[in-house]
Amino acid sequence: MTSLSFPSDAYVDGRWLESKTRFSVRDPWDGAEIAKVSDADDATVDAAIDAAVRAFPTWRATPGGERGKLLAKLAAAMEAEVDRLARVCTAENGKPLKESIAEVHYAASFFAWFAGEAQRSYGETIPATRADQRLVVIREPVGPCAMITPWNFPYAMLTRKLGAALAAGCTTVSKPAEQTPLSALVLAKLAHDVGIPKGVINIVPASDGARVGGRLVASRAIRKVSFTGSTEVGRAILEGAAGTIKRVSLELGGNAPFVVLGDADVDAAVAGAMIAKFRNTGQSCVAANRFVVEHSIAQAFTDKLAAAVRKLVVARGSDDKDLGPVIDDAAVAKIRRIVTDATAKGAKLIVGSLPEGSSRAIAPIVLTGITRDMAAWHEEIFGPVVALATARDETQAVEMANDTDAGLVAYLYTRDGQRQARVAEALEAGMIGINEGLVSTAQAPFGGIKQSGLGREGSRHGTDDYTNLKYMAIHHAATP
Ligand code: NAD
Repeated sequence: MTSLSFPSDAYVDGRWLESKTRFSVRDPWDGAEIAKVSDADDATVDAAIDAAVRAFPTWRATPGGERGKLLAKLAAAMEAEVDRLARVCTAENGKPLKESIAEVHYAASFFAWFAGEAQRSYGETIPATRADQRLVVIREPVGPCAMITPWNFPYAMLTRKLGAALAAGCTTVSKPAEQTPLSALVLAKLAHDVGIPKGVINIVPASDGARVGGRLVASRAIRKVSFTGSTEVGRAILEGAAGTIKRVSLELGGNAPFVVLGDADVDAAVAGAMIAKFRNTGQSCVAANRFVVEHSIAQAFTDKLAAAVRKLVVARGSDDKDLGPVIDDAAVAKIRRIVTDATAKGAKLIVGSLPEGSSRAIAPIVLTGITRDMAAWHEEIFGPVVALATARDETQAVEMANDTDAGLVAYLYTRDGQRQARVAEALEAGMIGINEGLVSTAQAPFGGIKQSGLGREGSRHGTDDYTNLKYMAIHHAATP
């Protein structure tokens, strides 16, 4: 295997900035150190903000078509180096190589999509009530933006933001998760090489996410923060942004119900469940968290799902099997707590077992008999654990599915067209997969309702959060 290549310093104003201290990035499989990355201090963060501020006037004035061409080049550069990029992601995140390859394609698709959107920033004209007036609305970029991203999709969560921001004419300072800064730095190098002007993209890796994230959120110069991560941190960011009244977009945690109604195609539901549950070893915000299965089909669905889960193989990401390790010891502890709580309260563990000691290789688990008093019902499990509950009928299934503060995605399996429309509209979520276990795509608006977030990423709506509407009332003489 060829050795990994990646930068390991902050990327600020088109240059690599070394800090006085460095922090370790580790392979989640065994904790082995794979890099020591510059730990951005306050001066580095401030330099990045200054660079974004200085680059903004020129970038915003660059025609959308020109910005789009650079985004298209960046997408092509990612595609040209899929394997190298994927290996960096697998090394620091632990996911199987084929999943990292899929992520690089998915991440590049946001640059490709927003390359087009950069050319389509439409305004409007509004009929005035007076003959001597014209009302014109244009869209303008909000200004320098901060992006704070999680470790579970280190490329895609960043490109989904960067693509939209750059298309809209904003400049950026990004803080990747402390577990996975290398993918973001690899991306910065590609951006540099394709000619994205200095200061437009700045990356500040840091070991203390709260310190650096907090500094970005509190900055007067930063006009918008886009965050993907946990609901708890999202709440802190929303509060922090109040001090400077800046725009905030939040892509937060989910607690997705996977509803299987009695008339569903069981094989299709099992196939969808395997994707919705086990992609990224269950560590995805759109992971199916609670399976709500109508009583009449519960046994058949459970048997087939259990059989499919038993076949899954857990291995080091570079060995490219079905599942990788979970990200860190805290993740293992959380899964252990959730599974132990469920079995103590009466759930049955029908597949798998908790690992001995602190191994991060968790063999997938299936629990039946999940009830509402269990942590598995209320919390995002974020691991390879299927939690199955049964519902009496459609009405109860919908009520159970909506019994959460989260509202990111819901999955619905039914062959009945009437039920598809009725239940999908009753489910409280920003996205619904109908007989479909994978909803994420650059063309569609990604985002949640309730406590799963604010705003949408991707799609033709993706640039909205990075623009302000400016309205001009223009007076002119009604007669010559
Ligand atoms: P996290 O909230 O712990 O961290 C996310 C980022 O926030 C990291 O970069 C971290 O350093 C930074 N951060 C931590 N404290 C901060 C603070 N006080 N101020 C500013 N920044 C701070 O989340 P995580 O563990 O990296 O990711 C997992 C979570 O992300 C899950 O809840 C998952 O559902 C969610 N997620 C949501 C989406 C979505 O699109 N809705 C996508 C992926 C992940």
